[in-house]
Amino acid sequence: MVSCRRMLSVDAAFRAITGAIAPLPPTRLPLAAAAGLVLAEDVVARESIPPFANSAMDGYAVRVADVAGASEAAPAVLRVIGAIAAGQDPTGLQLAPGTAIKIMTGAPVPAGTEAVVMREDTREHPERVEVTCPADLHENVRAVGEDIAAGTTVLRAGAVLKPANLAVLASIGHAEVLAVRRPRVALLATGDELRTADQALGPGQIRASSMYALEALVRALGAEPVQLGIVADDRAALEAALARGAAADLLVTTGGVSVGDHDLVKELLSAAGSMAFWRVDMQPGKPLAFGTFAGTPVIGLPGNPVSTLVGFELFVRPAIRKLGGHAQLRRPPIQAALAAGHEKRGLRRQFLRADVRWENAGFVATLDGAQGSHQVSGMARGNALVVLPEGPGTFAAGDLVEVVMLEELEAYGRPEHHSGRDPDAV
Ligand code: AMP
Ligand code: MG
Repeated sequence: MVSCRRMLSVDAAFRAITGAIAPLPPTRLPLAAAAGLVLAEDVVARESIPPFANSAMDGYAVRVADVAGASEAAPAVLRVIGAIAAGQDPTGLQLAPGTAIKIMTGAPVPAGTEAVVMREDTREHPERVEVTCPADLHENVRAVGEDIAAGTTVLRAGAVLKPANLAVLASIGHAEVLAVRRPRVALLATGDELRTADQALGPGQIRASSMYALEALVRALGAEPVQLGIVADDRAALEAALARGAAADLLVTTGGVSVGDHDLVKELLSAAGSMAFWRVDMQPGKPLAFGTFAGTPVIGLPGNPVSTLVGFELFVRPAIRKLGGHAQLRRPPIQAALAAGHEKRGLRRQFLRADVRWENAGFVATLDGAQGSHQVSGMARGNALVVLPEGPGTFAAGDLVEVVMLEELEAYGRPEHHSGRDPDAV
């Protein structure tokens, strides 16, 4: 079986789309709004963390010599001359030989402190304390700058602002960061037959299922969906909707890019110029449009919902990540063993819906029974796409195949497969 029509490879389409899209300009944002965004500047700590020496324990500030050789049977008895809690100023407190100062975790250590003994290693009395363990110099005392020293570069441009990075920035007093803002992604579903989830269906009508999935996918990427809803296969309505969508950073349409009589998206985008219509060497999701409309990049995904979602994973997700300033655009593939044999007949690269789980020593992929590009239920049952290379092929059970995981590890399957125990078991 040899195809007589030219097709673009999946990788060529990926390169063309991501190569034509530039990262959005960075903006200064408050930390709380920057979660998940890409940092656009190096950040140097102006302050040391901790900013002052403080106690790592609830206990007593002591001098090492005063507690040398202390034990349960022969405790060191010290006079308690004060107490200090987190947030209090240690000025005026001075530890003298033979004395101790009660101290709470995070409190600045008073002058003269050499170590803090844990409260658990003491017996407390109204004005004195018995210490039952010796202490090493600096024990339980956190030094200035032992986490972050002033002058060090704590984050480099290009870092993704994960929650711990926000904590680092907050700790050194960076209330704002220069980051690439969230891309705005306009979504437009086209088709005379389409209705929303809450509408009753007339003859020949179906619900625009992919519209809901796309909005959630855009949001999950940290981008802002601009839902333009359903537009009929009508030239004027479509043109108006495309013009509205062009205000976004990226416009994603579904339907109307194939060779049907009513594939107006194709017609209108062609008329607007600078659009390429590709037949991509993949299944599902062969027809794909890419170009610009009024200066905004447009990706035209095919209407069958599985094709739409596979096209999103392969082309829209990387485009959104590129806009957002990410260096890595595609998910790293993993390898899984096929649970059962599979005969691949088609020539195109295939993306099969599969459920991938960890079993004993590796990932195992079970292909879903419903692989039609209209059968969105197969996509919902699975958590991954199995990628079979171009050309026909015979795959046996146990053969290793490439897999693109669509979900996080915690949802891969029964948790006990990972380590032999249920993480939620108490
Ligand atoms: P098209 O690409 O416009 O030729 O549509 C291909 C198939 O996908 C047709 O059966 C459409 O009814 C269906 N379809 C188009 N858009 C959607 C959508 N948003 N949700 C679900 N199915 C759709
Ligand atoms: Mg259509």
